[in-house]
Amino acid sequence: MIKKLLSRSNNSIIEVMMIINENGMGISFVIDDDQKLIGLVTDGDIRQAIIKRVELDTKITEVMNTKFIYGNIDESYASLMTKISDFIHIIPLVNDNNEVVDYFEFKQNMYFPVAIPNLNGNEFHYLVDAFMSTWISSSGEYILRFEKEFSKYCDCSYGVSCTNGTIALHLALIALGIGSGDEVIIPDLTFAATINAVIHAGATPVIVDVEEDSWCIDPKKIEEAITEKTKAVIPVHLYGQACDMDAITALAKQYNLSVIEDCAEAHGAMYKGKKVGSFGDIGCFSFYGNKVITTGEGGMCTTNNLLLDEKMRLLRDHGMSKTKRYWHDVIGYNYRTTNLQAAIGLAQLERIDEIHKNRKMYEDKYRKILDPDMFTFQKNLQNREKITWLVSVLLREDIERDGYISKLKEKGIDARPFFYPLSDMDIYKLYCKTYTPVTHKISKIGLNLPTYESLKNLDEIGAILQNGRA
Ligand SMILES: *Cc1c(COP(=O)(O)O)cnc(C)c1O
Repeated sequence: MIKKLLSRSNNSIIEVMMIINENGMGISFVIDDDQKLIGLVTDGDIRQAIIKRVELDTKITEVMNTKFIYGNIDESYASLMTKISDFIHIIPLVNDNNEVVDYFEFKQNMYFPVAIPNLNGNEFHYLVDAFMSTWISSSGEYILRFEKEFSKYCDCSYGVSCTNGTIALHLALIALGIGSGDEVIIPDLTFAATINAVIHAGATPVIVDVEEDSWCIDPKKIEEAITEKTKAVIPVHLYGQACDMDAITALAKQYNLSVIEDCAEAHGAMYKGKKVGSFGDIGCFSFYGNKVITTGEGGMCTTNNLLLDEKMRLLRDHGMSKTKRYWHDVIGYNYRTTNLQAAIGLAQLERIDEIHKNRKMYEDKYRKILDPDMFTFQKNLQNREKITWLVSVLLREDIERDGYISKLKEKGIDARPFFYPLSDMDIYKLYCKTYTPVTHKISKIGLNLPTYESLKNLDEIGAILQNGRA
């Protein structure tokens, strides 16, 4: 990287112009025969020399700046930033021998968030269409189309859109009649929405450990945790990886349990060629801004069971009778989403294959760039076709993960730690009866990397990730 910025003291002006032209950065650092930094030339310096009719064959040492700003390779980011100004965006970094070993560049857009939604398809078009139709509330064509198309995408007959992914989980639980006195088995490694939904339904969550390979709920641990009170299990397809659905559905059959799939991070992931969300009684999806597809906020319950579909629709809409307006058969909720959000969702869904392709391309690139000695990528397992949500890796155990994340943040990279074990938090620990070693191990070293369709500069991100430990 640094080589392209260097010119030598015996280079001529025209030769340095060629170097600057080649590197496209408008600057070159001049070094002597001992590799020591002796000057700095910008394309502006050369322009001024030409205006003064200096010959192009003149040695660069005649026109270079010998008083220039530079930094030390060990200097902190904050200190280097004080040297950046409107006129100076790139400065050489030298070691103690005054040899140029790197450079520091400030870019306004040197910020890589963990996720950015891409809304470049029909999103705006459909949104405006929904807006102009005045059907901006929770009735409208886009809702029906989005439910139909999304459930079809998930190999399901029915789809019930709702406010968000957490609400989808709650709606599924109450539609299945799960509440007070019932136990629901969930993994320790998941986003808190999974457990919150169970608690809000009035049921008792039972936290179990995950598998070492897949990071998803461990069927053996599910079986160990089953009691007479167990009514349901919520397998969470974590970070795009499908759970072991054969084992889980077999257990559900044997012990007469409901299965609610938390698919919030795995739209389109498959187990044995079948989409997640189609295995259990109900699949729950989120369309939050950082999910595979988004509606801003939004969610959907998928099912192949007509009765559950009807029950969820009833509960979603205040429990109001389908045939008699303002007559309520059950105590319901308002869990509806809007036609505006469904319009965005439908456009996102049109592009979901492309979105997956692009996300996977970035994951493949990360896999190529990052040193496998330092980063262990999420596994591709037999019978499971994972999708790329946020590229997820485990850091080598001797690297202090949280310090590493802070270093990355200083350099503009927003990497995220894995979820903390639910069982470590005061409000949830009472729901975990056994220690969960696998969750604890993975949670401590796991990292989500910036993953979005418009991700550029992956080489740069890769270099920072690789050296971020320094
Ligand atoms: C995002 C997420 C949810 C909740 O979805 P919201 O739409 O944010 O309510 C639930 N479970 C998991 C695993 C999630 O990642």
